Amino acid sequence: MSEHVSEALFELRGVSQSYIKRVAAFLDTVDFTLHRGDTCAIVGASGSGKSTLLNILGLLERPVAGRVGFAGQDVMTASADALARWRNRQMGFIFQAFNLLPRLSALDNVGLPLLYRHQSRSVARELALQKLDEVGLADRAGHFPADLSGGQRQRVAIARALVGQPSLILADEPTGNLDQACANDILELLLDLNRQQQVTLVMVTHDTGLAARFARRVEVVDGHLRECGEHVAA
Ligand code: ADP
Ligand code: MG
Repeated sequence: MSEHVSEALFELRGVSQSYIKRVAAFLDTVDFTLHRGDTCAIVGASGSGKSTLLNILGLLERPVAGRVGFAGQDVMTASADALARWRNRQMGFIFQAFNLLPRLSALDNVGLPLLYRHQSRSVARELALQKLDEVGLADRAGHFPADLSGGQRQRVAIARALVGQPSLILADEPTGNLDQACANDILELLLDLNRQQQVTLVMVTHDTGLAARFARRVEVVDGHLRECGEHVAA
């Protein structure tokens, strides 16, 4: 890693990923640096490798080649335990399909990550209610996912991503199942978190209108990253 590694949240150098040997890599010797407090949209055609890039940033998969630094730590040699701890303590994940547990209330869905951290049930419920309030859903705390609209479900998922006070949110097409008005609301909510709480935000989207709201836009094309914004890749 370079001497600047501690300043960057993520530093990817020469990262390649492929799932089948001898088939061209779909991420091909990619360099990417992301700083704390950034907002970055990842765009690109279907199958171009957007989710793969996000999974590498989320420490969910390791590339077949290259170096990955997270907060000054070497991801490639870190233990599975360390990766799990960094994910749990520092990252919040949001998915297109919301991924809420259907048998748990909104409140209990949001509190679940805290139970994994061995917090008491009462503390989990208290903090979960605060987060539901922040996303405008305190009055839906007892509702089950099936009784909520798509936009409301995604707000619950955002509250769940936030309950552990992550410094970073990774979102994979979080508005893909929502109509345009809901998509805009969700985006505003995420951008507010960045502005008010300096949460770093990385979001995969193929909505160019939404992507335009981010400080950085990175397009995955033919295995390479193309920076398309006023900021230039470090
Ligand atoms: P995107 O999110 O841009 O649609 P992905 O990152 O999901 O693209 O996928 C990139 C490429 O990797 C695609 O060709 C996809 O078929 C392939 N791929 C993704 N995950 C796997 C996997 N677990 N095993 C094999 N191939 C995969
Ligand atoms: Mg994808």
